[in-house]
Amino acid sequence: MNVPEMFGSMVFNDHVMREMLPKKVYQSLQNTMIEGKALDEDVADIVAAAMKEWAVGKGATHFTHWFQPMTGITAEKHDSFLTVDKNGCVIMDFSGKELTKGEPDASSFPSGGLRATFEARGYTAWDPTSYAFIKDDTLCIPTAFCSYTGQILDKKTPLLRSMDAISCQAVRALALFGKHVKRVNATIGAEQEYFLIDKEDYARRLDLRLAGRTLIGAPAAKGQEMEDHYFGSIRPRVKAFMADLDEELWKLGITAKTEHNEVAPCQHEMAPIFDNANKATDANQLTMEMMKKVAERHGFACLLHEKPFEGINGSGKHNNWALSTDEGENLLDPGRTPKDNAQFLLFLTAVIKAVDEYQDLLRISVASAGNDHRLGANEAPPAIVSMFVGDELGSVIESIIEDKPFRGRTSSSHLDIGTGVLPKLARDNSDRNRTSPFAFTGNKFEFRMPGSSFNIACTNVMLNTAVADALKDFCDELEGADDFNASLNALVRRELGEHRRILFNGNGYSREWEDEAMRRGLSNYKRTPDALVHYCDGKNVALFRRHKVYTEEEMESRLEISLDEYRKAIHIEAGTMVEMLRRQIIPAALRFSSSLASSAQAKEAIGVAAEADKALCARVSSLCDELLLRVDELDRCMASGPSGTMEAAFYAADSIIPAMEAARKASDSLEMIADRSFWPIPTYSEILFYV
Ligand code: ADP
Ligand code: MG
Repeated sequence: MNVPEMFGSMVFNDHVMREMLPKKVYQSLQNTMIEGKALDEDVADIVAAAMKEWAVGKGATHFTHWFQPMTGITAEKHDSFLTVDKNGCVIMDFSGKELTKGEPDASSFPSGGLRATFEARGYTAWDPTSYAFIKDDTLCIPTAFCSYTGQILDKKTPLLRSMDAISCQAVRALALFGKHVKRVNATIGAEQEYFLIDKEDYARRLDLRLAGRTLIGAPAAKGQEMEDHYFGSIRPRVKAFMADLDEELWKLGITAKTEHNEVAPCQHEMAPIFDNANKATDANQLTMEMMKKVAERHGFACLLHEKPFEGINGSGKHNNWALSTDEGENLLDPGRTPKDNAQFLLFLTAVIKAVDEYQDLLRISVASAGNDHRLGANEAPPAIVSMFVGDELGSVIESIIEDKPFRGRTSSSHLDIGTGVLPKLARDNSDRNRTSPFAFTGNKFEFRMPGSSFNIACTNVMLNTAVADALKDFCDELEGADDFNASLNALVRRELGEHRRILFNGNGYSREWEDEAMRRGLSNYKRTPDALVHYCDGKNVALFRRHKVYTEEEMESRLEISLDEYRKAIHIEAGTMVEMLRRQIIPAALRFSSSLASSAQAKEAIGVAAEADKALCARVSSLCDELLLRVDELDRCMASGPSGTMEAAFYAADSIIPAMEAARKASDSLEMIADRSFWPIPTYSEILFYV
């Protein structure tokens, strides 16, 4: 296999463009990509023709505008290149117009009321900052999705806006240090966790197929307590899957780099090499799609749900985040000179302020029915947002706030920002607090709360905009300063002091931390609706308006969509559960108990005692009674409930989920005593320890 040759072979990337486009056209497109200038129509026509030629040469017959509506998945509408020319001959054609603008019938995508009130149709517009690629003989053109009146209906557009916002403010901040760059990009490396299980087990479980997770199921005798799966040797079948996945991703120009097992049985992870936020988001969306598809080919089902199995670690997505100039300087890298250190501390302080002031938005960006099972459980980061900076950087910050000498490993010195040099921070000891939701790992932050199935755009919109806002405040203050160093010192000390409550180096899973966090005034929104009620808080609306990322209307529509999505997810789960319990579990348990009754009767008829049969029959029968009662309750619970979206979301959390939990308890107790041959669905031990 020739990896360099294969890598990006299905991508209309810079290399291809340079080769296929006339110099002037290439240059003009470059300007669009780097500086966000508008593309003229002539250029679009030439680019489209080249793209088509390239794609047809690779066997493509169709094209599609590939976009990310609010549903979380990506959407496509395929058109063929086929056109009839004026002589009635069939030709393969693709115009600049078709490249730059599409009009999918968008009425079935969620708009949270935006389109209903304004205009029924939406359109997609080419995003030339992410490369077009070929998938399934289709040329896919990454696009943004808007309503006709300009309201955004997707996840990409706000991400691009937030990237502009942070670039604008970071460029300003760098100018304070005498550095003049054109652009600063948020860089993202999204580590993706997933489960692979046997396709046949998947097919036999309605809950996995409909809800993506098991709604019932007693724990297997062995879980993850031995920790023998983590980084353990990979099963040959899984290895073949990973090799195939790497190949598919490489063709699409996705830098899949590491593949390994995770903590839970059947759980694995893929990490790519980081890229700018826009490309990394597109790449992650494609990665999830490819994982599912390649799994099929290998007789697996790939589960991207945050919590497929109770009692076993769930899956997340670690969002590694940093800032990089167009010259490749990482702004979160502590540097070696006093000036670099000062710059680093300013950016670090901006992130700390941003995470503290907008902890609610970060929590909201990872809120979903699926992720609620993870956050706050004893595995993933808790629902409380806090930051881990490591002991060393922690004491640097402490000494700045307290204006005390810093006691390093070798010497003790006074840290005067702008003139002193930070101790060289040991990188490897900084990232081992696995319980922290937001950890500084040497030259980047790792946000560990996103769920495995999430589109990472939303999280990065929040992060980019919040940090942009902190930088804006800093620049406003420092740009007019008479004595830059003195003002910088004062600002960093003051801001770190004000936001130190968000820093926490201890165990994020502990009970004590919850109490401590409450004393510090940090928010702790355990469930999705608890978090979502704060989305449109005044300070949040003001933030997004200030940086032109969302209008208030757009935020309200997003809130509607999220609430509705949550309610629907719970309802689908509850409905699936009722169906499985009524049509599979209860009938099976009744068959089992009646077989026990018959055997007891038969034994007694010939004078043999049947105490075990009778005792077990009684237990199964009474659990069945209990289960039936719980199912009926759940069913009733689903049938009623308030109508407003907010009220309905709370109702789902307060009433439906507890009813589901009660029903599950009865079913799992039954499973523990039922004869396996009567149990109608694959069990945890069979699914998780498949051969
Ligand atoms: P760790 O061992 O600390 O998890 P890795 O080097 O394995 O660090 O990186 C984890 C992820 O972070 C990878 O996807 C990697 O590409 C990404 N990453 C590394 N540097 C950056 C950066 N500057 N910005 C964003 N992501 C980064
Ligand atoms: Mg990591």
